Amino acid sequence: MDGREFRKLGHELIDWVADYRERVERLPVMSPVKPGEIRARFPSEPPQAGGELARALARLDVDVVRGITHWNHPSFFAYFPSNTSYASILADVVASGLGVQGMSWQTSPAATEVEEVVMDWLRQMVGLSDAWTGVVHDTASTATLCALLCAREKASGFSQNGAGLQGLEAPLVVYASKEGHSSIEKAALLAGFGKDNLRLVETDEEHALRVDRLEAEVAADRAQGRVPCALVAAIGTTGTTAVDPLAAMAALAKQHGLWLHVDAALAGTAMVLPECRPLWRGVEEADSLVFNPHKWMGVGFDYCAYYVRDPEHLVRVMSTNPSYLKTAQDGAVKNYRDWHIPLGRRFRALKLWFYLLDVGVLGLQARIRRDLANAQWLKEQVDAAAEWERMAPVPLQTVCLRHVPKALLGDEAALTRHNLELARRVNESGAAYLTPSLLKGRQMIRVSIGAESTERRHVEALWRALQQAAL
Ligand code: PLP
Repeated sequence: MDGREFRKLGHELIDWVADYRERVERLPVMSPVKPGEIRARFPSEPPQAGGELARALARLDVDVVRGITHWNHPSFFAYFPSNTSYASILADVVASGLGVQGMSWQTSPAATEVEEVVMDWLRQMVGLSDAWTGVVHDTASTATLCALLCAREKASGFSQNGAGLQGLEAPLVVYASKEGHSSIEKAALLAGFGKDNLRLVETDEEHALRVDRLEAEVAADRAQGRVPCALVAAIGTTGTTAVDPLAAMAALAKQHGLWLHVDAALAGTAMVLPECRPLWRGVEEADSLVFNPHKWMGVGFDYCAYYVRDPEHLVRVMSTNPSYLKTAQDGAVKNYRDWHIPLGRRFRALKLWFYLLDVGVLGLQARIRRDLANAQWLKEQVDAAAEWERMAPVPLQTVCLRHVPKALLGDEAALTRHNLELARRVNESGAAYLTPSLLKGRQMIRVSIGAESTERRHVEALWRALQQAAL
């Protein structure tokens, strides 16, 4: 392909994306395809002669879009909002166009320095003090893994430079809530702590970690010769957006010398609103913090913000510094390859920059307030409706509910079947997409509000669809 053809196809492609976005509301939210259906539309052998790219645009609609579940659909209420704003799409095009590999400052100084700037803007936007320094990671899962690696190395006196965990006399222990995200367990296992040394602590009636139980677990581990090492606080659990008591956890972490990591993957975005910041009171006492602008904010996937209070410690844990990566500027600049696991890195900072240039902090705040108000509206409907039950508080944008017909009252197995069926009907109708999920063994349906294009009318339509499906 030459520049002329690229230009032509590029214009067509941008039109195609804009057309897709403009018609997405008319598409079924959840992809209706059966397993293997998309694969079967492709030849089993690779193209030999090339020169066929122009045909790909025409094929996207028939061969790909049917197999897409539309995360940017206004009636997407499943999992969590994952907004890819127009501005961040454009930034991704720029990043690819420049073809930057930003592993070291020297390999593209702008990639490092724009990231420094926008991560500091983001810090200010969520009200963190300037004691924090940020870096872009791919996902919260890898950021949490880095946090636990840093905790491990701090507690073990840099065991990685010797025999590693295998040389320690006493096992190190990690603590998190039972409602914490599975990425915490995955990180603890990958970081070598072992399942035996992961404590998933009981939660209270609002599904937040119980500090009294945490204290008891820490004391029991100490008494049995184990070394409490790290504590992960969830600010906005995946299931119900429950908020762990961060200030009390921070006090306990301080008392026992635990590394405190905050997982605010979804909820971090809410902190652009000063009125939400009491939810993470105590955050300044933490050692590390992760949140995903690629969730609710509008910065297209992937863009995970990882903040630490001691970047030197992070770099010491993450760097290996072989001779072929050394550059003359090493002492004077940030080499972000040493701030996370991969060596290579994309120019993701462009996405946040473009996004903020487009909407501004005020525009973002207005949208987050809209989503919070929409969630409160749905909460009020559920609370007022006969035979519907709200399963958890609504501190943010997720409403957990279930239908409890009188005839099934008290029969948990029947209620599970009924609510799974209800969610299936709504999802398969294509009108909206929801996630059924278990909460302390009870079946619920999560309504996670916050797609960029979701307005009140979409939430109203969802509530009607749920009631209809329950008939
Ligand atoms: N933590 C929480 C609270 C989440 O809700 C999620 C994803 O849903 C994650 C972590 C994992 O995020 P990622 O996909 O960026 O690894």
